[in-house]
Amino acid sequence: MKEKESVKGLKRKISERVRRIRGSGIREFFDIAQRMEDVISLGVGEPDFTTPWSAREACIYALEKGYTSYTSNWGLLELRKAISDMLYKEIGVFYDPESEIIVTTGVSEAADIAIRAIVDPGDEVIVHEPSYVSYKPCTIFAGGSPVSVRTSVEEDFRLTADALEESISEKTKALVLNYPNNPTGAILRRKDLEEIADVVVEHDLIVISDEIYGKLTYEGKHVSIASLDDDLKERTILLNGFSKAHAMTGFRIGFAAANAEIIEAMMKIHQYVMLCAPTPAQIAALEAIKDENSVERMISEYNRRRKLMVAGLREIGLECFEPKGAFYAFPSIASTGMSSEEFARRLLFEERVVVVPGSVFGEAGEGFVRCAYALSQQKIREALARIENFLQRHGVARN
Ligand code: PLP
Repeated sequence: MKEKESVKGLKRKISERVRRIRGSGIREFFDIAQRMEDVISLGVGEPDFTTPWSAREACIYALEKGYTSYTSNWGLLELRKAISDMLYKEIGVFYDPESEIIVTTGVSEAADIAIRAIVDPGDEVIVHEPSYVSYKPCTIFAGGSPVSVRTSVEEDFRLTADALEESISEKTKALVLNYPNNPTGAILRRKDLEEIADVVVEHDLIVISDEIYGKLTYEGKHVSIASLDDDLKERTILLNGFSKAHAMTGFRIGFAAANAEIIEAMMKIHQYVMLCAPTPAQIAALEAIKDENSVERMISEYNRRRKLMVAGLREIGLECFEPKGAFYAFPSIASTGMSSEEFARRLLFEERVVVVPGSVFGEAGEGFVRCAYALSQQKIREALARIENFLQRHGVARN
């Protein structure tokens, strides 16, 4: 009895901000699936490719040579120089590797310290939804208030300038942009970004632009909001990393590029909570940047899988928005009459296929499920056949 009381007491000691947050819904399904046999997972957004050998070899050599100590808090200068060159080549913006780039432990850390560096208690941060799951909790951890803006399939899940404008108040500090988008696969064109940029400038906002899927753009080229003009470069904190396009999730290397004053502010948090990103992993990332062929090969394969997944979902009777980036399809499951959570749960137990309920990504995701196609074409075909069985059992007709 005494012990129970003391546990209860401890729970009350957990901070109110942390108690408010639910654990990630993505992990929940993943954990259930791991205890089951013969499951095909379209759940976790993680490349099925092993990290290209060049990067793994560099990491092994780094360990052999004894590179096992801290790097500078900023990250290896050589890596920052390579990141700077890569950004200039890809989005046409120059960032000074000495003062405008910080290497982080994944984009996860970069997003956290970007938000914490600029948010004061009471500040509002706008997040378009459906959205990746970390921005809102990070805002709450920082004492700020996330404000959701819905995007819809009718508008190709693009954030519009009008919707942004409507959600702005005098407390708004920043906008989080994530295109190519997780979970919808939507992208923004230059014109969309220009319209958003006008609102951003008018209301003097900071943009935290998570471009982790930038390389995974299948139609046309990724455009960064930071590339529009010097003012947008100054007010954008660009986040990117190696997890997705380079298949390096476990290495935990990301980075932020921004105005030197903002990077300096992020550095204050980074140096106390992280010190530096793992040294052998930074050396691997440096090699990964050079290995463009491996990245190209993986992107071409994702593109084939994307076409297979979208055509397959449509054929078996689900309406599916055409994703133009990232590695997710986001079909509507409205025709089943189930909520997205019920659909995902029943599909897992009846057909052993994991998808993520759209509601995990905010209210605007309800009525959809996320299907990651970062797995082999054979497995995608098998998953589609199982989903078809499921749909037929529940009375959804094939197209
Ligand atoms: N940002 C987005 C949009 C993501 O989808 C993910 C992972 O799924 C992350 C950030 C986290 O990336 P990292 O592995 O670099 O921490």
